[in-house]
Amino acid sequence: MSKRDYYEILGVGKNASPEEIKKAYRKLAVKYHPDKNPGDKAAEEQFKEVSAAYEALSDPEKRARYDRFGHAGLRGGPGGFAGFGGIDLEEALRTFMGAFGGGGSIFDDFFGFSGHRRGSERGEDLRYDLEITLEEAAAGCTREFAFPRLDFCADCRGSGARPGTARSRCGACGGHGVVEERIQGFFGWQIRRRGCPECGGAGTTAKEPCPRCRGEGRVRRRKKMSVKVPPGIETGSRLKIQGEGEAGAHGARPGDLYIVIHVKEHEIFQRRGDDILCEVPLGFVTAALGGTVDVPTLGGTVQITIPAGTQTGRTFRLRGRGMPDVNGSGRGDQYVRVALETPVDLTEEQKKLLARFAELGGERIHPISSSFLDRAKKFFTGS
Ligand SMILES: [Zn+2]
Ligand SMILES: [Zn+2]
Repeated sequence: MSKRDYYEILGVGKNASPEEIKKAYRKLAVKYHPDKNPGDKAAEEQFKEVSAAYEALSDPEKRARYDRFGHAGLRGGPGGFAGFGGIDLEEALRTFMGAFGGGGSIFDDFFGFSGHRRGSERGEDLRYDLEITLEEAAAGCTREFAFPRLDFCADCRGSGARPGTARSRCGACGGHGVVEERIQGFFGWQIRRRGCPECGGAGTTAKEPCPRCRGEGRVRRRKKMSVKVPPGIETGSRLKIQGEGEAGAHGARPGDLYIVIHVKEHEIFQRRGDDILCEVPLGFVTAALGGTVDVPTLGGTVQITIPAGTQTGRTFRLRGRGMPDVNGSGRGDQYVRVALETPVDLTEEQKKLLARFAELGGERIHPISSSFLDRAKKFFTGS
């Protein structure tokens, strides 16, 4: 499938306002809508093409990427089409329903009624839990995933009526989508309004339901999607993708998709906001004499200088080596805590050298032990 320019497809200029883009899409979508052109495959292709163009140009972020990188820029964006060029009729209908909903005159034109749809509810919002690694959270990533959802039925275009038949005004609610009931309340008879059980609030019913979706206007499908996760994201953050939740019943607007991020625990790094904490083992000779150690960071290994006489638990700060701020303002720091390691499995010669070292040693080289012993002595003698 050749990839025509989206602005050209909609017949608007590069500087077209969002209103101009929506107006152009409305005009073309109405012209090529499958219900206006039954059985016309070419019109269906046009409908899908204008819907794909509108989908990209109506979202400011996608439009900006399209302007910079062309069609390639739309792969892997929030709500991007995983396999671009392959927008199918269900997705095109979703775009159409998301733009104009089930209400308003545009929909009435198609289904040949002018009933009210005020009670008609939009599709459910969906939640998808996405687990990523700390490295992915630090660098940002693009993740593909698949999930089941209800999409508009392509056979009946979401109306729920058998193809070729129209929905008609609901007899139970007169097209209002709500019914009134008289109930005996504490202060006498009261009027209670509730959604019409006959039409589910749509105001219309299908006398002959669509066989594919059994009159619901929606079918369950597995949807593949890719999402761009921004750098610095934290567990519990939600990414909202508008219009990618469940399709609405009987042609109502689709809901939204919320992607909830979970950042996995890391083996060596702990995260505190934008800062990273890690503990590195340190040999007692390096700690005593000074030297350097290699420290892992999210951006690769960094060498730090250990001053002579470093005690266990000492913390070093690596400025700007933490997580990036999710709003793009700088980075956190990494805190490196050293843990002194006592040597084990010594050879006879090593043992002798350490014993000799102990004989040479005095209070001066162990200031912490000396002051502790002084305090302990005072405790026992009570002086
Ligand atoms: Zn159907
Ligand atoms: Zn009704």
